[in-house]
Amino acid sequence: MSKVLEAAGIHKSYPIAGGRVDILRNLNFHAQRNEFVSFVGPSGCGKSTLFNIITGLLMPDSGSILLKNRETTGSPSPELGYVLQKDLLFPWRTVMDNVMLGLEVRGTPKSEARERAMALFELYHMQGYEKKYPAQLSGGMRQRVALMRTMVTNPEIILMDEAYKALDYPLKIALESELLSVVKQQQKTVIFITHDIEEAVTLSDRVYVMKAHPGEIVQEIHVDLNTDSLLIPERRLSPRFNEYYERIWRSIGTQPTPVN
Ligand code: ADP
Ligand code: MG
Repeated sequence: MSKVLEAAGIHKSYPIAGGRVDILRNLNFHAQRNEFVSFVGPSGCGKSTLFNIITGLLMPDSGSILLKNRETTGSPSPELGYVLQKDLLFPWRTVMDNVMLGLEVRGTPKSEARERAMALFELYHMQGYEKKYPAQLSGGMRQRVALMRTMVTNPEIILMDEAYKALDYPLKIALESELLSVVKQQQKTVIFITHDIEEAVTLSDRVYVMKAHPGEIVQEIHVDLNTDSLLIPERRLSPRFNEYYERIWRSIGTQPTPVN
């Protein structure tokens, strides 16, 4: 299998009074084609910083990001699509116009953009919502539209930063099942960033476990739930689930987290 994403020696620090503080220290990781890879770690361990480095929005102090063997450190790449927790839909555009946006900015003719967007409304069971505005949709639907807007450009790699964090549990499960079936069917590579161990285990082929202060990868875990089902509840009920959950929980560490 070929590596579509490879990161070597990623280091990031920020200035503080009297020096610098390490946020990410010596991160090495990769993703194979069609693989679902998660980064799981506590809040503040540098997940979003890492996301920004992979997407090219932020330059690391040192280290490199390679997408399909091409160095892309510090620059955005068209192979990569991303979805954030905050859906970032434009409130003044209809759902259809939001989905078409990714294609429009790439100069795709409007009729072709509309056709490609329409196909997604069917795939994501969103027919009938084309002319609605984001404010008329529930949080889950908005997140689905955000994913559609990313998928319409057909990126090879999809990067998600706590995309389903704000959703209630049943909705989250439904959207995750949908995500898994779409990315497996379309053979996408997914880099999924989360603080939620359960989410990481049920979705992933492989998990990088991070700890905080500084952010480091402490473990890499290959997940095999021994099921062909792409439905999250069925994956969650796999007899192997607990074993993975426990391994990740233990490697994140059981030190009390400051609550504020
Ligand atoms: P996570 O997404 O895992 O919660 P972040 O990547 O958002 O973590 O943040 C990791 C750490 O880096 C936090 O301690 C945060 O305060 C710090 N940090 C993030 N951005 C900056 C910045 N621009 N300047 C200084 N510190 C930052
Ligand atoms: Mg974050």
